Amino acid sequence: MSHRPGTKAVHAGVEPDPSTGAIMTPIFQTSTYVQTAPGDHKGYEYSRTHNPTRSALQRAMAELENGKHGLCFSSGMAAIDAVVKLLRPGDEVVSTNDLYGGTYRMFTKVFQEFGVKFHFVDMSDLSNVRSAVGPSTKLIWAETPTNPLLRIIDIEGLATIARERNCLLGIDNTFASPYLQNPLDLGADLVMHSVTKYLGGHSDVVMGALIVRDDALNERLAFIQNSCGATPGPMDCFLVLRGLKTLHLRMQRHCENGRKVAEWLQERPEVDRVYWPGFPDHANHAVAARQMRDFGGMLSFTLKSDNMGDATTILSHTKLFTLAESLGGVESLLGHPASMTHASIPREERLKNGLTDTLIRLSVGVEDVNDLIDDLAQAFDRLRK
Ligand SMILES: *Cc1c(COP(=O)(O)O)cnc(C)c1O
Repeated sequence: MSHRPGTKAVHAGVEPDPSTGAIMTPIFQTSTYVQTAPGDHKGYEYSRTHNPTRSALQRAMAELENGKHGLCFSSGMAAIDAVVKLLRPGDEVVSTNDLYGGTYRMFTKVFQEFGVKFHFVDMSDLSNVRSAVGPSTKLIWAETPTNPLLRIIDIEGLATIARERNCLLGIDNTFASPYLQNPLDLGADLVMHSVTKYLGGHSDVVMGALIVRDDALNERLAFIQNSCGATPGPMDCFLVLRGLKTLHLRMQRHCENGRKVAEWLQERPEVDRVYWPGFPDHANHAVAARQMRDFGGMLSFTLKSDNMGDATTILSHTKLFTLAESLGGVESLLGHPASMTHASIPREERLKNGLTDTLIRLSVGVEDVNDLIDDLAQAFDRLRK
């Protein structure tokens, strides 16, 4: 029986341990398993290939994304690395242009050297995708909502193009989480997560995941996972299994707080633009409302001032919002794309894409939202001193 997302978050993947009855999946901290005769074992031989704690988590991931198979990796980047290893020299990839910086770096600095060609286009207009996809395109890769400008890309529209042109569609679903958006239901072949963010949810694990429905695709990816070996350890898998149980509660609060902070920012005289897909006048609001259950806890804003010093004043005076990379944990974080996550992109390029010097990104946590707003207010007040 298929359950609703909140029930799945609590129960997905986990059965009482058959050997002891333990309700929680134990941390199987072992590298190897006994064989009573060569090849005679209980399905586990070596922990790079299979580990029971990881198996439980992989089942949970598959259920949460309405997939059939889940594969966990030692980081989000390792998960994307496995996807690109499906390709061969000469193959081409069409990707979103405002891509996670680490993905952009891996595509252009690592895999381009191996003869894979990447095209980066603004996918909020699907005609750009249609013209970039050619006969050698084997993969369309998209993030939505995008980072840090929270553009929304129409996953069903991309799936139509991928089907017509016979290429795979992979969606990095990190920003939405499976609670807000399920790309496989919208026609994607493959979903990727940086589990580090909302799925782990407590800023204490680095991990990645892939979820697919197709058996043959799963086999190819599982072969790469085992052959290349970027698998997570059982302790980390346990922490994520624990985190998942409150995914729905956390996401509800992230969304609620995100909305209130976005609305508050929009009223501030110092603020120029607030990027949050829940606003009816957001350029892609209709698509967001159709493919997401709610609008999430990520948002960005720019100041009317174009002085980077003013952004720095805010960034260095919040007390609850911590200045740090990453997102999706219970605690609120803020970041400055121009000097942090997107510093490797030349300034001219950045400005062309709307990534101005005063753009500030918030990962709104699950604290009491009134305290979060008070914290931002006292940091804004510093601008007048
Ligand atoms: C963090 C992140 C990644 C990379 O994941 P790691 O777990 O840090 O390796 C990829 N995509 C997005 C959207 C991310 O936010």
